[in-house]
Amino acid sequence: MTDLFIGGKWCPADSGATFTTLNPADGSVFEECAEAGVTDVDRAVAAARAALNDPTWADMPAHARARLLWRVADLIEEVGDELAELETRDNGQPLGIARSVTVPGAAEHFRYFAGWCTKIEGSVLPVAFPDTLHYTRREPVGVCALITPWNFPLMIAAWKLAPALACGNTVVVKPAEQTPLSTVMLVELMERAGFPPGVVNLLTGGPATGAALAEHPDVDKVSFTGSTAVGRKLVHASAGNLKRLTLELGGKTPSIIAADADIDAAVAGNVQGALFNSGQVCAAYSRFYVDRRRADEFTEKMAAAASALRLGPGLDPASQLGPLVSEEHLAKVDSYVRGAQDEGAELVTGGRRADGPLSSGFFYEPTVFAGVTESMAVAREEVFGPVIPVLSYDDPDEIVDRANNSEYGLAASIWTRDLSTAHRLAAKVRAGAVFINMIHVPDAATTWGGFKASGWGREMGPYAIDAYTEVKGVWTHLGGA
Ligand code: ADP
Repeated sequence: MTDLFIGGKWCPADSGATFTTLNPADGSVFEECAEAGVTDVDRAVAAARAALNDPTWADMPAHARARLLWRVADLIEEVGDELAELETRDNGQPLGIARSVTVPGAAEHFRYFAGWCTKIEGSVLPVAFPDTLHYTRREPVGVCALITPWNFPLMIAAWKLAPALACGNTVVVKPAEQTPLSTVMLVELMERAGFPPGVVNLLTGGPATGAALAEHPDVDKVSFTGSTAVGRKLVHASAGNLKRLTLELGGKTPSIIAADADIDAAVAGNVQGALFNSGQVCAAYSRFYVDRRRADEFTEKMAAAASALRLGPGLDPASQLGPLVSEEHLAKVDSYVRGAQDEGAELVTGGRRADGPLSSGFFYEPTVFAGVTESMAVAREEVFGPVIPVLSYDDPDEIVDRANNSEYGLAASIWTRDLSTAHRLAAKVRAGAVFINMIHVPDAATTWGGFKASGWGREMGPYAIDAYTEVKGVWTHLGGA
């Protein structure tokens, strides 16, 4: 049983309510967690507000904040194996991913933003008024609600916690109800690192907990990663006190494979780009535009590579693809697959739930479709599963419009040997990140976020500092009072 963490103390929900999380590899109940209600949300926000105004945090020198963040990174690494295994049991991801991507990715975020603490500067600006000194200050936004999804729970919590705290905010973090456990452990580590009480608060719970936080009049900012549908709700929920919002929402990443691409390299990269974490990645490559002359070859090789991946429980070192997160999500993925078949796409491989010894878990076979057109839902909507729809194109001039013909704009990928093609397309495609001849990767030092319905604002890099600070201009008349 895990508790809430409010004002530096672990406690059950006021109502005593709990919910359970499942192990997606076998469907068994894994853990019971406190389910925060409205009064718990009030308590957590009040604790965060009190800590924001308390000199222990408000006046803490930047280098001391940096040490706290750095210490969290060290602690994450110290318990890295345990944390990785917890993530695998709760979320399903193969242990290899948890160990080599999730845990180091979270630690590196804390280190990168530890470095920023002492570099959050203002500037002196040459205003037009004579005898006037003008400078800017960057100040914390205030109490930040951090609402995270289930696909990379630990890493995405770190993406938000590290910059929010580097900038001197206080936070209430709410992990997804399917996968709260690595965030609970991370908050334990933050308590050990020595953050003052109330600076970091944790509420576990579902959509109702998230909604109460998002509507709360004393929350100054919400940073959210999740579906576009919930992102839209947050825009409405934030209207009351005009909260600042950072939204990292859905995606439908086009991957463009030009006639001159090295097809074997493209297959190796795209199979990972599509199927990494079983396709449960917001930037997953999920519609493939292949020059018609290479489409059959690409499809055949993608199908061979996808079906060769070993599906199995994340804790089994031989597994390359884990289960989907839940029964409900598996049903959604399956309905897209059935829909594509009904709409006339050609199923090349996969297309069904895994049976046999894997049937108690939420495993879905990697699936490749040929002959897909943009009218099909599988080419337009976010499936968030191991599904690869292959489309083709005849005229390179049509490809920009087709790639941009989407409500989303999170990422795009281009596979070509020609530098002009690569960079011309990179400039024209409407997406927050473009990956040329490579799989999608996040990095603390650069930007993450989307154009259009993929969200508002950017995470990571200096952009996260903008997202977690308010800018104040200070004017002084130097001519005497
Ligand atoms: P998915 O569709 O992938 O499950 P969601 O966008 O529904 O993703 O959920 C992402 C996060 O948002 C989770 O922590 C979830 O509890 C939370 N959430 C869901 N609905 C709301 C809401 N109306 N307001 C605030 N948070 C919500």
